[in-house]
Amino acid sequence: MRIRSAVRKSVKWGGAALVVGLATAWIGSAWWYVVSPTFGAHQFGLGLGRLSWLTEPSAASVFGSWYWRECSNFPFFWWFQYTTGPKRCGLYIPLWPALLITLIATGFAWRADLIAHRLAMISSCMKCGYSRTGLAAGAVCPECGAAPLAAVKAAKADLAAGSLPVRP
Ligand SMILES: [Zn+2]
Repeated sequence: MRIRSAVRKSVKWGGAALVVGLATAWIGSAWWYVVSPTFGAHQFGLGLGRLSWLTEPSAASVFGSWYWRECSNFPFFWWFQYTTGPKRCGLYIPLWPALLITLIATGFAWRADLIAHRLAMISSCMKCGYSRTGLAAGAVCPECGAAPLAAVKAAKADLAAGSLPVRP
C-alpha cells in the first residue's frame, strides 16, 4: 500500500512537472527556435510549436553548437509533417499532442490520489485517526470507542427522516 501510494505520488508530481515543462517548451517555441549541433547527419530542433528531426541538413543550417533565434514572425505549426529533398529530409512532430496526453494522464493520477485519500479518510476513525481496515462496518473504534462513520451517517439519516436513531 505504501509503495503504491509512493508510485501514485511520483506519477502525480512527475506528471505535473512534465506538463509544465512541455507547456513552457510548446508556448516558448512560438517565439524561439532552438537548433542542436549536427550529430552525424542528424540535427534536432524545437520551434514553431514542433520538434524537428532533420537528416543531411544543408550546409547553411549546420552549426557547431546549439543555436537559437527569434522566430515570432514565422507561422506556427499544428500538424505532423514529413519533407524530403535531394539534400535533406525532415520529420516534424507537433508538441501539443504530447502535452495533451501528459495532461490527461496526470489528471487521472491526481484523481486516483484524491480517491485514495478519501478512501483512507473513510477507512480510519473520525475521532482519533486509527485505521479501521479489517474491522466490521458497525464496530466501534478499538482505540477510542467512537462510532464508525457509517453508523453516524445512518443515525443522521434516520434523524433527518424523523425517526429516532437506533443503536447498532
Ligand atoms: Zn478512534
